[in-house]
Amino acid sequence: SAPLKTYGENEGIERAGIKLSSAGKVLFPGQGVSKGNLADYYEAVSELMLPHVGVRPLSLVRCPQGRGKHCFFQKHDTGGFNEAIHHMEIVEGTGASGDYFYVDDLPGIMAGVQMGVMEWHVWGSRTADIEKPDRLVFDLDPDEGLGFEAVRTASVDLRDRLAEIGLKTYPMLSGGKGVHVIAPLVPKVAWPEAKTFCKAFAVLLGEERPDRYVANMSKARRKGRIFVDYLRNERGSTAIAPYSTRSREGAPVSAPVTWEELERVEGANIFNVANMPTRVKEVGDPWPDYASTEQSITKAMMKAVKAE
Ligand code: ATP
Ligand code: MN
Ligand code: MN
Repeated sequence: SAPLKTYGENEGIERAGIKLSSAGKVLFPGQGVSKGNLADYYEAVSELMLPHVGVRPLSLVRCPQGRGKHCFFQKHDTGGFNEAIHHMEIVEGTGASGDYFYVDDLPGIMAGVQMGVMEWHVWGSRTADIEKPDRLVFDLDPDEGLGFEAVRTASVDLRDRLAEIGLKTYPMLSGGKGVHVIAPLVPKVAWPEAKTFCKAFAVLLGEERPDRYVANMSKARRKGRIFVDYLRNERGSTAIAPYSTRSREGAPVSAPVTWEELERVEGANIFNVANMPTRVKEVGDPWPDYASTEQSITKAMMKAVKAE
């Protein structure tokens, strides 16, 4: 991985037309990753990241003083953001409404960096058609103590089962402990139907392999198993965006990978602010056909997972 640049504590820099103050402020103390380094990181991955983070309502994790200090989720504007972070009004529905943030370009990301955004969480639908998801996420959450081997096996199992039903999926290392198995969709069915499908699929997995899977989020019931978190697939729910930094030890980032790579990967947090830019340069987009995958949840799929 390329060495991180050094910035002066109070140095002001400009990226994509956005002014960033205190570029040398350390955000990941363990790795000495500064605000300027975060700007460099996002510049390096933006071409691959923007198609996934752009034009979706956001939930931001801000840590203005860096990781390990006070961090908070922020969905609504309370002031101070550059206008490169746009606003959209979401009208009443089940759960979420009000004024939401979205970005559609690198200046938007940089405006977030300036405000101490360390994690970018996205809705599964886009601003143009908020009520219809254009992606499903199966968030695999292993019980503590389960090795990554089990997560890998489960991911491949979900891939195969979803492929059998008719859905092509793409794996993403969360940057934390698990994998997100993601199915792009043509925005066609609305949130309630998408959730019904995902829940039924997770419940079915738990019934068929109770030794491996549980569809209930209670940690007490997880015991040596993987929680298939289908709850990301609700109106207003979010999941970590591809290529987002995580405010966790090691300055990890969420990382799209190929299914082949997943077989060789040793953990969900192997990619970080320091090594991801090199990977992007050398490997490029591990999901080249993601955007052209045209699929939707059909009646036959609903039936296959025994959703009513
Ligand atoms: P890991 O692999 O370690 O589980 P993760 O990103 O999948 O990492 P989860 O706790 O499983 O973490 O959460 C999944 C997603 O749910 C997150 O990426 C986030 O978008 C959303 N989420 C979780 N907790 C909250 C919260 N308190 N507020 C808002 N969104 C949340
Ligand atoms: Mn998870
Ligand atoms: Mn989860």
